Amino acid sequence: MLIPARMSEAEEQRWVNVMLDKLAAQESRRTLDDSELAERARRLSGQYFDGRARPESVRWVTNQNTRWGSCTPSEGSIRLSHRLQGMPEYVVDYVLCHELAHLLVPGHGPRFWRLLEAYPRTERARGYLEGVVAAERLPHLPGARDA
Ligand SMILES: [Zn+2]
Repeated sequence: MLIPARMSEAEEQRWVNVMLDKLAAQESRRTLDDSELAERARRLSGQYFDGRARPESVRWVTNQNTRWGSCTPSEGSIRLSHRLQGMPEYVVDYVLCHELAHLLVPGHGPRFWRLLEAYPRTERARGYLEGVVAAERLPHLPGARDA
């Protein structure tokens, strides 16, 4: 670590703590691999759906650019777009919960959304994803990704 000169010991300690917090935050945002993703789905199912949603497979895919996630209930398979990688955990968890809920209720009717209300950050995560989509439609703003 490069520590700026002329820091008091207390300042230095505070600065080191800030850096350690940053590293910890980066670590928690590390991309899950497919088996960790499956484990996470199992945990979310237990937490919010009494373990009733039991996917056979959960994995990342790179060929899904218009949808964040998809599932095939007959196969019990869930796929998440690699575009979610690097997004906050609660957003990835929301998409997992969304697809898990589809294993129990097809379509997006009232029953589906009632089920998803169990996940407390549904509204916030949907807002985040809508913001991402909106930002991508404004390619000339600084910082927006070129489409
Ligand atoms: Zn859906």
